[in-house]
Amino acid sequence: MHRSAAVMAWNVFKFCTALRGLGSVMILMVLGVVGVTYYAVVVNNYGPALFAAESMDSLTAFTVLLLFHGLLVMLLWSYFSVVLTDPGGVPLNWRPVVEDEEAGEAMPLANSEFSSQILNMQQSAVISDPGDPRIRFCRKCNQFKPPRCHHCSVCGRCVLKMDHHCVWVVNCVGALNYKFFLLFLLYTFLETTLVTLSLLPHFIAFFNDGEIPGTPGTLATTFLTFVLNLAFALSVLGFLIMHISLVLGNTTTIEAYEKKSTPKWRYDLGRRRNFEQVFGIDKKYWLIPAYSEEDLRRIPALHGLEYPKKPDPESSGL
Ligand SMILES: [Zn+2]
Ligand SMILES: [Zn+2]
Repeated sequence: MHRSAAVMAWNVFKFCTALRGLGSVMILMVLGVVGVTYYAVVVNNYGPALFAAESMDSLTAFTVLLLFHGLLVMLLWSYFSVVLTDPGGVPLNWRPVVEDEEAGEAMPLANSEFSSQILNMQQSAVISDPGDPRIRFCRKCNQFKPPRCHHCSVCGRCVLKMDHHCVWVVNCVGALNYKFFLLFLLYTFLETTLVTLSLLPHFIAFFNDGEIPGTPGTLATTFLTFVLNLAFALSVLGFLIMHISLVLGNTTTIEAYEKKSTPKWRYDLGRRRNFEQVFGIDKKYWLIPAYSEEDLRRIPALHGLEYPKKPDPESSGL
C-alpha cells in the first residue's frame, strides 16, 4: 500500500518535471503551426489570388486575407497575454476572513488565533482544518489558501482560482488570465475554422484535378495546413463549449470535479453576473485580453481573492 503510493507520487513528480521541461518548446510549436499556416494561406494561395485576373477571385482573396490577419492579431495578442500574465499568487501574509455568522459580520483572523491556527494545521495531517472547512491551508507553501485557490504542482505554488495548468501556454490558468485563455480559445477556433474553410476548395482540387498549379512542396504544405487546422478547430470547439458552460455556472475545471461532493454551488449568481466576473461589465473589453480600470475597481472577483456568494439557506433560516 505504502509502496504503491510512493511509486505513484514519484510518477506524478516525473510527469510534472516533464511538463516544466516542455516549456518553451510548446511556444515554438504554437509559433510553428502559425508559421506553416501563414505560409500556406497567405504566401501560397490567397496572396497570389489577390492579383487574379477575375475581380471576383481577388475580392474573395482580399476578404479571406483581411479576416485571417485580423483574427491572427487577436489570437497572438490573447495567447501572449495568457503566457505572460501571472495567473495570481497568494499575497504575503494573506489571512482568511472568517464570517461570524451569529453577529453577521466578517472579520479577519486575530493575531493570536492566527498563529495557533497555523500551529494546529501544521501538526494536522489534513490540508484543511476539519473543524472549520472554510479555512484552508497549503502545507507545501506553508500559507493560508484564499477561497477557490489551489496548489499547482507544476508551478510549485498556490494559484488564485486555479482552473488548470496549460501546457500550450506554459502557464497556469487562474483568476487573472482566465479571460485571456478563453479569448485565445475563441480566436483559435475562429482562425482555424476560417483556414479550414478557405483551404477546402484547394483540398478538394488536390484529389479531383489531375493538374493543379503549385510545386509538390507547396501542395504538401496546403494539405498539412488543412489537416492541422481542421484537427485544431474540432478539438478547440470541444474545449470552448466546456468552458462556456463553466463560465455560466461560475465554476473552474477543478471545481467541476469537486462539486460532485458539494450539493449547492454558492458562487453561482446567475449567468449574467457569472459572466461579468470573468469578462467584466464593460462591453468594449469583452473581446480583448484586457479589463477597464472601472471594472477592476468595481468587481473584486477580478483580483482573485474575494468572491460574492449566495446566502446559505440553511444558516440563514432561524
Ligand atoms: Zn500551495
Ligand atoms: Zn501551474
